[in-house]
Amino acid sequence: MNKDIATPIRTRAILEKYGFSFKKSLGQNFLIDTNILHRIVDFAELGDDSGAIEIGPGIGALTEQLARRSKKVVAFEIDQRLLPILADTLSPYENVKVIHKDILEADVQEVIETEFTNTDDLMVVANLPYYVTTPIIMKLLEEQIPIRGIVCMLQKEVADRISAKPGTKEYGSLSIAVQYYTKAETVMIVPKTVFVPQPNVDSAVIRLTRREEPAVIVKDEKFFFQITRASFAQRRKTLLNNLTSQLPDGKQKKEEIIGALNAAGIEPTRRGETLSVEEFGRLSDELLTYFQ
Ligand code: SAM
Repeated sequence: MNKDIATPIRTRAILEKYGFSFKKSLGQNFLIDTNILHRIVDFAELGDDSGAIEIGPGIGALTEQLARRSKKVVAFEIDQRLLPILADTLSPYENVKVIHKDILEADVQEVIETEFTNTDDLMVVANLPYYVTTPIIMKLLEEQIPIRGIVCMLQKEVADRISAKPGTKEYGSLSIAVQYYTKAETVMIVPKTVFVPQPNVDSAVIRLTRREEPAVIVKDEKFFFQITRASFAQRRKTLLNNLTSQLPDGKQKKEEIIGALNAAGIEPTRRGETLSVEEFGRLSDELLTYFQ
């Protein structure tokens, strides 16, 4: 077997060979611990016929582990300077394709259609660039691409918010947005010492398993998300206060909002953080009548 990329010695040698300098603005913190990488890949539960999509391969540390454990890997990398390095480090693996593209600009659906023609099982696996974690995750979920799920490293604080349960201080519109599409779990806490350079924040790995059906069936998805965001606009305010101040003409429609809360069986004095996804679903369906 080829030597692992993700050891401190090999990583340093690769970086020196190419005179590579890290760009903090691109969230470049590379993993140098193969045990952590093996565990990340384990959580993705890949089989010989699985495909993997990686975001930000860096110098290929995770990419090579994915290449060994799946049928094919497609990796999106924004930093052109990494392309010759990846061509070198990943040369032993014929089942890897690197695409030079900002993932936020990429047509992932089209890439899946062209690159994964014979693959039924697809996972996104990544050590994400921390400056764009949330937009990347939301893009992948909202575009409804045909993946089984996402296993990714991100800031622990964001992982806590994504997998938070109602009634906790971490629970908010991000928890609901992600849990609407997926079952979300924080599966591993990762120390700073396994990266070069070390990030300023603690890290965690989350596993998002796509639901067959959304967590709650609502009449208007866009409106549902608008209601959840409005409900958390000011965390210390009651639901009624947030909804009247955030919704269009909310102040004039206060009586209607109270009516909708009552019809949904929700006390107007409750705070957004106490509502389950199902309760938000009921509330948004009741409110829709007055805000269509
Ligand atoms: N996978 C490597 C590892 O684990 O060692 C590197 C992970 S590093 C945290 C994040 C990587 O994402 C970097 O290679 C960075 O250049 C790349 N990146 C940053 N923004 C990106 C974007 N918008 N689209 C694609 N790649 C991006």
